[in-house]
Amino acid sequence: MSSDEIIRDIRKTIEEKTPFAGSVTKIEFEGPKVVIYCDDLDPLVGNGKPVKKLAREIQKRITLRPDSSIRLPVGKAKEKIKEIVPDEAQVTGINFIPTVGEVYIETVKPGLAIGKGGQLLRKILKEIRWTPKIIRKPPIESEIINDIRRSVIETAEERHEILREIGSRIHRETRAEDEWVRVTSLGGSREVGRSAHLLQTPESKVLLDCGVNVAADDKSAFPYLNAPEMRLGEIDAVVITHAHLDHSGFAPYLFKYGYDGPVYTTKPTRDLSVLLQLDYVDIARNEAKELPYTKKNVQEFVKHTVPLEYGDVTDITPDMRLTLHNSGHILGSALAHLHIGEGRYNIVYTGDLKFEDSRLLSAAEHDFPRLEALIMDSTYGGSDAIQPSREDSENDFLDIVKGTLKEGGKVLVPAFAVGRAQEMMLLLEDAYSSGELEDLTVHLDGMIWEATSIHTAYPEYLSDDLQNKILHQENNPFLSDIFNQVKSREERERIVSGGSSVILSTAGMMAGGPILEYFRRLAPGSKNSLIFVGYQSEGSMGRRLQKGWREVPMRDDSGKRNVVQVNMDINTVEGFSAHSDRKQLVDFVKRSSPKPGKILCVHGEEGRCIDLCSSLHKMFNMRTRAPDNLETIRLY
Ligand code: ZN
Repeated sequence: MSSDEIIRDIRKTIEEKTPFAGSVTKIEFEGPKVVIYCDDLDPLVGNGKPVKKLAREIQKRITLRPDSSIRLPVGKAKEKIKEIVPDEAQVTGINFIPTVGEVYIETVKPGLAIGKGGQLLRKILKEIRWTPKIIRKPPIESEIINDIRRSVIETAEERHEILREIGSRIHRETRAEDEWVRVTSLGGSREVGRSAHLLQTPESKVLLDCGVNVAADDKSAFPYLNAPEMRLGEIDAVVITHAHLDHSGFAPYLFKYGYDGPVYTTKPTRDLSVLLQLDYVDIARNEAKELPYTKKNVQEFVKHTVPLEYGDVTDITPDMRLTLHNSGHILGSALAHLHIGEGRYNIVYTGDLKFEDSRLLSAAEHDFPRLEALIMDSTYGGSDAIQPSREDSENDFLDIVKGTLKEGGKVLVPAFAVGRAQEMMLLLEDAYSSGELEDLTVHLDGMIWEATSIHTAYPEYLSDDLQNKILHQENNPFLSDIFNQVKSREERERIVSGGSSVILSTAGMMAGGPILEYFRRLAPGSKNSLIFVGYQSEGSMGRRLQKGWREVPMRDDSGKRNVVQVNMDINTVEGFSAHSDRKQLVDFVKRSSPKPGKILCVHGEEGRCIDLCSSLHKMFNMRTRAPDNLETIRLY
């Protein structure tokens, strides 16, 4: 059936089975959704039962919208909104999208604009006959979020066209008669970096992740997009599990070469990806390297993103349904559950996985409606890759901080901007508010502030405890007075020559960024400490210091090479990883419900992928494989 025929069928079902057929003015596909426009408000503000019944009947996500003929003029509608939404909600922006009849209301306190059980939303809809969408104004201003939101509004018409096109492709006439499912590794197998896996059926091609290996300087930085089965024009959809560049960093490149299909991901992943992709482009430019893509391609990535929430079941091709679930790794990170051919075959691709609660996030989801094959993270798949307990790690970290501050020294923590920095912020804030650390100032430098502000825009993705603090107790730890955003070079100077403090700064492996300035100035002081809380790759400055280098050649402000004497205390505290260790990986498979019959181990050094693969086979008697890049494995 073609998409037009499907729409005709839906219209018929509406006529036969719902009471609101008379008010339907238009039905169209908008990406995976069916949008029904009505010139009567009843179906939109009623109890929703007929719509739910219809959604079950046609097995699609349905959105009802008021037809343009009944909408209040923009000026009047705006006044009404201001009347209805209480001042305490603090509205910061109202933007109308005429193409689809929606109005975005940005507010500091979304809960107060929504009202109890959505009461105010219904009232707004009734009065103005535009669909209100409430968005949270992050309490910490975010340039990235402002830019993305502005572009979503400015490009609404174009996005609508893109979504309609995507919609008709999802609901196209199917032609396949065979049944099979296979997956080809285009990158990130038996290695970490450039994750990309092509999932194919006779009907569809879906790309799972599209990353870069930022540590590589040659072609091995990019996935094998030139593999024979990888024809850009035939790709139905791209799914991005999370924002780290080894999963999202090459996605804008697809748009440079003519891909014009959807990218499915969560909103926080979209925003954090943009932050990291733009930084990646900037660094390449500063190092005078060939740019893999431009900012314009990043904008295309945003324009083609179809944001999904955890648990949304979405048709992405004629024979695949996608559901994203929390993967516990970083803000917005997801496991992708793919339901193929009316449920004949079900796959979970974990992306990066953390199967343990952290301060920031809840542990990964492990319960699925159906599951036949698992494609899983093997970063710490080796039997030796066991991390110390989080509690021990936290105590070790705080002991070093306490000791150093007491001596009047400064603590320097190189941290990845997304995830690790916020985890350390939460630990320090907790230690401060419980009285364990006194007189604490934590300076945040590099991209950390911007990444933190994106965290504050999406509290519903954070751990239950943190969410509860932010939403119900008005106690947002990220807004604590102990944190200071470093805004200038001069301020860095003042911090270095000032009293004791903790400094969290990028880059996490000391490959560049403000951390180097701090290090150069603080390294000679024997009262100061440096604490590594994240992985340091071979060849990085961080790894050299871990190995005990005490004289490090570095460039000074004027570009001259000098030897820096390292007298500061160099520490490494393990256990803060956002990846599952070996025990947690095995635990995840053990507790996965239902049990998969097949497992592919990817995303890990070769030895670790193979170790995990053979161990899981022995433990659970499942068919397991550790594919190589470019290898294709038939799953069904
Ligand atoms: Zn990651």
